[in-house]
Amino acid sequence: MSDRSFLNWPFFEERHRQLADQLDAWCAKNLPVDHHDVDAACRELVAKLGRDGWLKPTALDTDNPGPLDVRTLCITRETLARHDGLADFSFAMQGLGTGALSLFGTPDQQHWLGKTRAGKAISAFALSEPRSGSDVANLEMTATHDGDSYMLSGEKTWISNGGIADLYIVFARTGEAPGAKGISAFIVPAETEGLSIAERLETIAPHPLARLSFDNARVPASALIGKPGDGFRIAMSVLDVFRSTVGAAALGFARRALDESVSRAAERELFGAPMADLQMVQGHIADMALDVDAAALLVYRAAWTKDMGAPRVTREAAMAKLFATDRAQEVIDAAVQLHGGDGVRKDHIVESLYREIRALRIYEGASDVQKVVIARQVMGAA
Ligand SMILES: Cc1cc2nc3c(=O)[nH]c(=O)nc-3n(C[C@H](O)[C@H](O)[C@H](O)COP(=O)(O)OP(=O)(O)OC[C@H]3O[C@@H](n4cnc5c(N)ncnc54)[C@H](O)[C@@H]3O)c2cc1C
Repeated sequence: MSDRSFLNWPFFEERHRQLADQLDAWCAKNLPVDHHDVDAACRELVAKLGRDGWLKPTALDTDNPGPLDVRTLCITRETLARHDGLADFSFAMQGLGTGALSLFGTPDQQHWLGKTRAGKAISAFALSEPRSGSDVANLEMTATHDGDSYMLSGEKTWISNGGIADLYIVFARTGEAPGAKGISAFIVPAETEGLSIAERLETIAPHPLARLSFDNARVPASALIGKPGDGFRIAMSVLDVFRSTVGAAALGFARRALDESVSRAAERELFGAPMADLQMVQGHIADMALDVDAAALLVYRAAWTKDMGAPRVTREAAMAKLFATDRAQEVIDAAVQLHGGDGVRKDHIVESLYREIRALRIYEGASDVQKVVIARQVMGAA
């Protein structure tokens, strides 16, 4: 049983504690799913999560509009990640993929949200390009205004849900100004002519991922989200909501690694006594628990700050993401060590956590980039 004491921290309300309990029980019954075919697994997960109402917090409820509750997003991600990384991925992408619509969409554009919240449509966030990942302000894909439509040309890569998504939120250069001020955001349904899957990408922890090609893909002018030139601001606002949730997913992986290590230390005998009696083992467990609690404090501080109405949580979210993902890597590495040979056995839980955590230190802003962000915030405030 995972430590639940953090739920009594003042960041949370009773509804958050109830959510954590109910979702944990749901996960114990429904997860993990078979990962053999990741596309099928993600489709199944989105459908199941949607059917049972867990995707509702990922996007605006158009019948009862209000801000996204970041604590709910974080608790959900932490809990799902503790049970099944692909379940966390499926949940997270429904939010990241539709974030631009929740925050900036017109009522007409927001019709998608009813479908994604019910698990009846899958969404994707298409920002990165082969030559601009960290350096997104220099993205090259173009969107040319042509009468009452836009023509999109170029490439996007590393797009999660690429190949299985029903809609892509695509960022392209409309050229109002050089750099960040000349980018706009568009809704591009998967069946749009000219949009194709150029390549499926395989990674150490398999997820649906693709490189997308846009060859004069035409979308109506009504597909533009916000105003021309708003795209970079829209992308950053979406990441401002979802970046701390990446830390929450890392926290879920780390908590699972700690739980597995505590069980292993209690169950395994070494040198005629429980492994847990060895002080070096206790040292590992103490370090892991410290990292988990410290990461949780930063993640839920960021989520709480956003939920309390802070317009931006750039510093808090960057700290949460950086610390939680980097420390989760260390916690999971220690778990592998404590499991001995079993720790590197294919498909052992700590082996899969070891593969699962790595990409979180790269996407939605690499760890190095988060350090730059934090330093700018700290020095700018001085
Ligand atoms: C599994 C996975 C899923 C992803 N899903 C999506 C998605 O759904 N949508 C999407 O748009 N993108 C997605 N990405 C792309 C991801 O956001 C980029 O990979 C990331 O931004 C890094 O860009 P890059 O790969 O081009 O690396 P680069 O930009 O080339 O950076 C390489 C390294 O350089 C260092 N670096 C970069 N900038 C700085 C700096 N300013 N200061 C110091 N060091 C720096 C960092 O160590 C960084 O890791 C995903 C990536 C992965 C791996």
